[in-house]
Amino acid sequence: MSANVNLLGLDLEALTRQCEAWGQKPFRALQLAQWIHQRGTADFAEMTNLAKSFRARLAETARVEAPVVIADGESADGTRKWLFDVGEGNAVETVFIPETSRGTLCVSTQAGCAVKCPFCATGAQGFSRNLRADEIVGQLWHANRALGQYARAGTCSEDRVISNVVFMGMGEPLQNYAATLAALRLMLDDHAYGLSRRRVTVSTSGVVPMIDRLREDCPVSLAISLHAPDDALRDRLVPLNRKYPLAELMAACRRYLSEAPRDFVTFEYIMLEGVNDSDEQARALLRLVDDLPCKFNLIPFNPVAGSGLRRSANERVLAFAQVLGDEGIITTVRKTRGDDIDAACGQLAGEVRDRTRARVVPIVETVR
Ligand code: SAH
Ligand code: SF4
Repeated sequence: MSANVNLLGLDLEALTRQCEAWGQKPFRALQLAQWIHQRGTADFAEMTNLAKSFRARLAETARVEAPVVIADGESADGTRKWLFDVGEGNAVETVFIPETSRGTLCVSTQAGCAVKCPFCATGAQGFSRNLRADEIVGQLWHANRALGQYARAGTCSEDRVISNVVFMGMGEPLQNYAATLAALRLMLDDHAYGLSRRRVTVSTSGVVPMIDRLREDCPVSLAISLHAPDDALRDRLVPLNRKYPLAELMAACRRYLSEAPRDFVTFEYIMLEGVNDSDEQARALLRLVDDLPCKFNLIPFNPVAGSGLRRSANERVLAFAQVLGDEGIITTVRKTRGDDIDAACGQLAGEVRDRTRARVVPIVETVR
């Protein structure tokens, strides 16, 4: 562990070990976690239930530090996007989406992404590096502070601003497993953010062995970026499919359900005109998922320059949803705005050059 450790990324187990190394009792870790994650404190001097000598030691050997914000945009309805500098010219984005009954934070796990799906702006960047746990948790910590969460009474109560976290920002969380796991544990821990497992969702392009690890280590809600009903097409749209084809992916989903906090898997399906949006392909999806308990979330494609792909017409999306719905599969259509300013799904590219952007337009998810 480095001389100056960033406490933001340590889950309770690691924080307890760190406290022991400092000669402190394990319960100090709980107190520290509460100050840092529930009260949003970065200043050890404020942690008044810790001994002065320990606070002095902390000030010398530890820090609480989120990545630096280089842009912060807010739309009329409260949707907010932050761009964080993660060093060496890399930046990642975090989006807060307020809705009537919940507030969802969409976090990034990597600068760039190695999966390189052809419809995704993050994939087009290539892979820069994995975020550390402190950089992932730092997004939530910063958002809570920026949204005024810590100013409210009873920060871990039901009225918290961020009630849900989705790992749907930049990067493939299951290709950055260790940091994602530490971040998840902090998000769920009652001494930190205390979010319910059902309200934390990992979205993956289908890293099969890591879906199994997640099931064992920390089962949260699972979303699979499916996008195609057969291997030939999915090999093109989600290149990771060549390594973990659909039969293996579906089997991993079934295994996951034995431990999952919800009794279904969510399949995300981006609607690409003339590529994956026919009724026949919807019927092939029905055969693929067979009796697997699942929901579908159809995502209108947000245009990405140079992809050569087009968004399906609304009527096509609705017709496709109907085929699934007719067989009793709950199907939602994600309503997307903001594609003109790159705030929407798949357009997060950590654009560092444009730091002047002041506004974002919201992404809203509606249930039909
Ligand atoms: N790497 C993970 C999580 C981040 S991507 C994954 O692929 O699941 C989050 C979601 O955004 C995925 O469902 C992805 O397919 C979708 N997405 C990517 N590019 C998009 C685009 N251009 N328009 C709409 N959705 C997109
Ligand atoms: Fe990576 Fe997900 Fe984008 Fe595919 S959709 S390139 S897996 S971030």
